[in-house]
Amino acid sequence: MMIVMKPDATEEHFRAIIERIESTGARARVSSGVEVTTIAAIGDREHIARLDLDGSPGVDRVIPILKPYKLASAQIRHGERSVLDIGGRRVGGDHFALIAGPCTVESRDQLLTTADSVNAGGATMLRGGAYKPRTSPYAFQGLGTEALLLLAEAKARTGLPVVTELMDARDLEPVLGVADVVQIGARNMQNYALLTEVGRSGCPALIKRGLSSTLEELLMSAEYVLKEGNENVILCERGIRTFETAYRFTLDLTAVPMLQQLTHLPVIVDPSHAPGRRDLVEPLSLAAAAAGADGIIVEVHPAPEQALCDGPQQLRTEDFARYAQKVATAAAVADKTSFIAAAA
Ligand code: PEP
Ligand code: MN
Repeated sequence: MMIVMKPDATEEHFRAIIERIESTGARARVSSGVEVTTIAAIGDREHIARLDLDGSPGVDRVIPILKPYKLASAQIRHGERSVLDIGGRRVGGDHFALIAGPCTVESRDQLLTTADSVNAGGATMLRGGAYKPRTSPYAFQGLGTEALLLLAEAKARTGLPVVTELMDARDLEPVLGVADVVQIGARNMQNYALLTEVGRSGCPALIKRGLSSTLEELLMSAEYVLKEGNENVILCERGIRTFETAYRFTLDLTAVPMLQQLTHLPVIVDPSHAPGRRDLVEPLSLAAAAAGADGIIVEVHPAPEQALCDGPQQLRTEDFARYAQKVATAAAVADKTSFIAAAA
């Protein structure tokens, strides 16, 4: 249930409503918007309905939230977009995030060269995997804690917030030592224990859509993080499995405007993993930005031919600045603040 409070509701009114909601064993979450402030009551619907909150002092009206994802629903914010502040870089609403970096951290030189290039080219955050979800157990699995140290060095040097993947809750502490955003990979989108841990950590989470997951399933995964009181969730479309075999995955750009209707959370696109090849990354990025995506997470490498992971799809560092300019132009078409101007 969503309790819409009156503009002149007092703190007393809020406290009384929250106490009554919590008396049923439900949780109360206050959401302050520009226009209205609401209290979401998350719990047994029958019990909450029995409180008969409509007409209580300070309450304007009570509306049921019909979607199974409550805290992620657009309804809870009355259509207002969430804007996240990640180390001073904003994402969501009018703000576009360009997250760039290697698929995986391979060496100090590789990471710092890439970090410097993407920083100079206008990226707003640095990506880089320390723990890699590989299809083959014999493939390079990531440098682990060594990579985390290198990411910390790259962050100190460039000032770029770091996005890195967490695969196992046992690595949460070291990952939180450097991550400004914890990435939950496509293969872990429905790892509910992991989502809950990230929710409890309070660290912003970037949740990638599972290979065969519906938008509703993605939003339910976001709900696991939000439910723990962590409001900083970014959703990412990265391509889904279809009958098409000409490329790795089909980038579902319809998901961008659709998700933006269903949820207040920022929605970004990964144009690298769907095609799996460099020449398709730019057109997909431009399409995503023009479609109104709140950002892009893209793979960049100084020598893709020698990359230990995802070489064929990684942009070359020397091409990044020109690429970023084009993405900024497309993002401007969708009324996003130019991130290039901010970086210049
Ligand atoms: C990645 O970002 O490098 C990655 C493995 O992504 P995904 O989980 O979308 O496959
Ligand atoms: Mn990759």
